[in-house]
Amino acid sequence: MAQTTTDHDQYQLVETHLQTRNTNGTTQCDLCLWRCKLSHGQRGFCQAHVNRHGTLYNLSYGILSAIDIGPIEDKPVKHFRPGTQVMSVGSYGCNFRCGGCHNLEISWGVEALDDLAKGQSTAAYVSPERLVAAALRHGVDGIAFTYSEPAVWLEYVVDVAKLARKAGLYTVYVSNSFVTDEALEIVAKHVDVLCSDVKSLSDAFYKDICPVATVKEVLGSIAKAKQLGMHVEVRTNVIPGKNDSPEELANIAAWVRDSLGADSPWHITKFFPAYKLSDVPPTPTEILHTAADLGRKAGLQNVYLYDDKGCDCAETNMPVAAYLDDDPLAVHTIKKCAADCCEDEGILLKKYEQNP
Ligand code: SF4
Ligand code: SF4
Repeated sequence: MAQTTTDHDQYQLVETHLQTRNTNGTTQCDLCLWRCKLSHGQRGFCQAHVNRHGTLYNLSYGILSAIDIGPIEDKPVKHFRPGTQVMSVGSYGCNFRCGGCHNLEISWGVEALDDLAKGQSTAAYVSPERLVAAALRHGVDGIAFTYSEPAVWLEYVVDVAKLARKAGLYTVYVSNSFVTDEALEIVAKHVDVLCSDVKSLSDAFYKDICPVATVKEVLGSIAKAKQLGMHVEVRTNVIPGKNDSPEELANIAAWVRDSLGADSPWHITKFFPAYKLSDVPPTPTEILHTAADLGRKAGLQNVYLYDDKGCDCAETNMPVAAYLDDDPLAVHTIKKCAADCCEDEGILLKKYEQNP
């Protein structure tokens, strides 16, 4: 049922790659472990996938919230093509709701995704071909999917990754790893690098940001990505009072050693206050050093500490148009679905959401 190739010059809904029709009339999205079961007119937890008459579609295919160019080390990825430049892109939508998430307008993107659903969005639409062409024009070596959660943007990620590989570019997937095995198998075929969070080893921590997530599932996905042949690097954003006990940090390090290898990098980043955790102070430098010491003590050979860098969710809306070759005004025009199946002149969902 899934649409596997796209050649869309204009914005349109693209069928969700992994979906299953249930006998009770709902359709299940199998991209991430929420496995949302949706009826006509409903959207999944991430808000980026919608059921229309029994078929699920991705609303955010080709929709970019931000682009930036910088060293791959900034993702952070240190052991894959060091010294190269990567074009980072993000969309809208995430399957977690972290209390310390920065710039919810991008990472969760609820308003942006609402606008897409209503055919009122002016977010930039960039086809996979245009994105890869832009990357080549800017002379970068790879493309990274980051800022929002790429698991909920899989259709676009895969199409870009296929073209990127053909063009000699590598791809990087910066994720929270709350993903199904079947989605990961698709990603691993086309994407070179997984940079994943290991946020905590406590189920309570994960439950707080995603009621259906468990540590076992997240760690299992990361280990599986490595088994599937991806280059994997993990990072832990150390949050005071949440995941900074020496015992937990030592256990994370031991998991990296045992599951990914003693030479696998562990990136330790600083927490900066935001959203519901605005009253939590930035991570003290000495705690970051304690974490790094515990990592080395556990036998990890490549521990990296960042006293000035948080996690890679979006901080600002970066100027998408500046990286494209079009008239900047044309990039941000109203986006309505170009497919002719809606029978409502491209206004995607308004009537269905009012009368589900
Ligand atoms: S990607 Fe995850 S959160 Fe979004 S609709 Fe699919 S299962 Fe639900
Ligand atoms: S911090 Fe990352 S995983 Fe958590 S809600 Fe924000 S974008 Fe999603």
